Amino acid sequence: MANKMDIDNKDQKIIIKGRLNGSQRKRLVSLMNMMYSPSELAEEIGFDRRNVYRIYIPLGCPHIRDEKRYIWINGEEFRNWIKDIYRKRELLEDQAFCIRCKMPIKMKNPIRKEGKGIIYYLCECPNCGRKISKIIARGER
Ligand SMILES: [Zn+2]
Repeated sequence: MANKMDIDNKDQKIIIKGRLNGSQRKRLVSLMNMMYSPSELAEEIGFDRRNVYRIYIPLGCPHIRDEKRYIWINGEEFRNWIKDIYRKRELLEDQAFCIRCKMPIKMKNPIRKEGKGIIYYLCECPNCGRKISKIIARGER
């Protein structure tokens, strides 16, 4: 579980949480250029509806709110957005991805750490000073 991973970087943690698995990713192609409610989207892809509110919207998922404050998400926009945010970043060995700077950075003071089923570097962003974790390997959950 995420709370056992001992990772300081909250954004990194929720990105791990909201990442789609293989079969969910395959279902992304079925999303159309139309508006979906969070529960329709969740059903289409097969994730928990609450992920939309707890993970995707806070991470910046494109959406609109109607006059009743209900959330609507365009299927194609969601597909592009989630592919982009969760895609494997091409990083050099001494780089990590800073979510605040939104770009790869050279790891500052990297420390190799091991948590439950996970090996990662904890480092700092040289630009903004944010603590970043870079996952090196993941074992069983
Ligand atoms: Zn940064």
